[in-house]
Amino acid sequence: MGYLRQAGFQSVDDPRLADYLIINTCGFIETARQESIEEILRLSLLKNSNGHHKRLLVTGCLAQRYHDDLVKEIPEIDGMIGIDQYDRINSILTEDKVVVAPSPTVYREFAASATHRQRSFAYLKIADGCDSGCSYCAIPAIRGRYRSRRLEAIAADIDRLLEAGVLELNLIAQDVARYGFDIGKRPLDLLELIEQRPEKFWLRPFYLHPVNITDEILDFLQDSNKFCNYLEIPIQHASTKLLQRMNRGYDRDYLERLLARISGKLPDTVWRTTFIVGFPGETEGDFKQLCDFIEEHKVCRGGVFTYSREEETAAYDFRPRPRAQTANARQEIVQNLINENAERFNLSLVGRRLSMLPETFSTTKGLATGRLYCDAPEIDFHITVPAQHLDRREFHSVQITATTPEGFVGELIDGGKEC
Ligand code: SF4
Repeated sequence: MGYLRQAGFQSVDDPRLADYLIINTCGFIETARQESIEEILRLSLLKNSNGHHKRLLVTGCLAQRYHDDLVKEIPEIDGMIGIDQYDRINSILTEDKVVVAPSPTVYREFAASATHRQRSFAYLKIADGCDSGCSYCAIPAIRGRYRSRRLEAIAADIDRLLEAGVLELNLIAQDVARYGFDIGKRPLDLLELIEQRPEKFWLRPFYLHPVNITDEILDFLQDSNKFCNYLEIPIQHASTKLLQRMNRGYDRDYLERLLARISGKLPDTVWRTTFIVGFPGETEGDFKQLCDFIEEHKVCRGGVFTYSREEETAAYDFRPRPRAQTANARQEIVQNLINENAERFNLSLVGRRLSMLPETFSTTKGLATGRLYCDAPEIDFHITVPAQHLDRREFHSVQITATTPEGFVGELIDGGKEC
């Protein structure tokens, strides 16, 4: 977006009005690939609409991983770039067909960046790639080895985002807790950089691999004024046998100790996670262990995927593979358990006064929506409050009055000024 804006392009919401259709894809599991391909095919139908020829361009992981197949199978695609060639985007708009190269070994900064002016939150990428070697995962093959961004580049991004009025920094990488090991830095160097900022904002760290969550990190978060009491820790399973087959580097005991450490040091913190069901070798007994774990730990924010058999991964030949029907049924059971826990947790917040990060408002309906500390953007719940107008550049105080399937209903306190 940054490069395109620099070159004078404008983005439009309606693809029928666009001259260039650019689809940024995901491609690490089967469902993500299907979704990407459906979108490419859907937009390819628009290529010749409105009397002029549009160019159809594909970027991101699917282009990086399957560019040869895409060129052959979908001739409507006019150009593709992989994950580390965004500075070449202008060339695929007009000339080149495919610009894809293997991932570099050090983080590649791009000179142009774009901020969503309409959003009160931002994703702040701190590293790319991964070398953890989980047996099911194609991400290292697609995105290359772990490479941290330099602190100065991250600091410049933080300046830009806070200047634009962003109230929430969502840290992202394949493993946020591993930041810096390849460039002689520690996660604390990054956290300190963020903590020093005088502005008021929420810090929400995503994707902390359980083995890399040190006491040093937890102690820091305990004293932090920015940390919003929410962590994302992908656990994937709770059966030691399955965790070993997944090559996750920890077992059930470790997980229990980790969660005890977190609740000891950060007692009010909500953690989100992801699980994989239907992994080769998952028995009814393993699945029961997972369900018991979710109940015992009251997991109330999370997603569950069915195992996707991926080329270039160690688990590709693992057996026995549970049937798709079994995996789908297990997915539904796990999601229902999480949803029940979420319902209970959400109800426990009714009557509380909390800070709300504003997101949208509708003057016609007189309603504003936002989020609480316990909900991440785009994947968790939101809160609705009656309000004609809300300043999107400030937190607001709300009292939670009820829950809904989408999250919460509340009221602004003291005109919404933060207490
Ligand atoms: S840590 Fe995450 S990105 Fe890295 S190999 Fe494992 S699942 Fe994939």
